[in-house]
Amino acid sequence: MKERTLTILKPDCVKDNLIGKVIDLLLAEGFKVCAMKMIKLTPETAGGFYEVHKGKPFYDSLVEFMTENRVVPMVLEKENAVAELRRVIGATDPAEAEEGTVRKLYAESKGRNIIHASDSPENASIEISYFFSQAELISNY
Ligand code: ADP
Ligand code: MG
Repeated sequence: MKERTLTILKPDCVKDNLIGKVIDLLLAEGFKVCAMKMIKLTPETAGGFYEVHKGKPFYDSLVEFMTENRVVPMVLEKENAVAELRRVIGATDPAEAEEGTVRKLYAESKGRNIIHASDSPENASIEISYFFSQAELISNY
């Protein structure tokens, strides 16, 4: 069954002009883009998105990083999309990511790591609703 997941191309991806390359890789992996936008997060919206990490040592720098440039949230669709996207992006730390993954190819560090992906189907629906309205999620392909 087709599943949907949320990705965010992070501020480093936008700043380094990598959004085209990363989207191309995602399309080549068989994901369809259902919805996409470019927005600037505020400390409130970035902090709310990463609420689960509040209190961790990297939380403040994560919120600062996520607000330093625009980001590109996207809804992606594929069979088993959540797990598939986690495979394609690679480990959080690029030094530990598999060859050919987005983070291995493009990320500079564990903090500045180019891309977000939902970690479960439940969180995917919550995260999709965080960025996209019902009207924006209608697709006809
Ligand atoms: P993932 O993005 O792989 O799901 P987490 O959910 O654990 O990873 O963390 C969310 C984000 O917080 C990471 O993508 C990364 O940008 C940042 N982060 C996580 N752990 C660290 C860390 N130890 N040091 C710096 N930044 C971190
Ligand atoms: Mg995570």
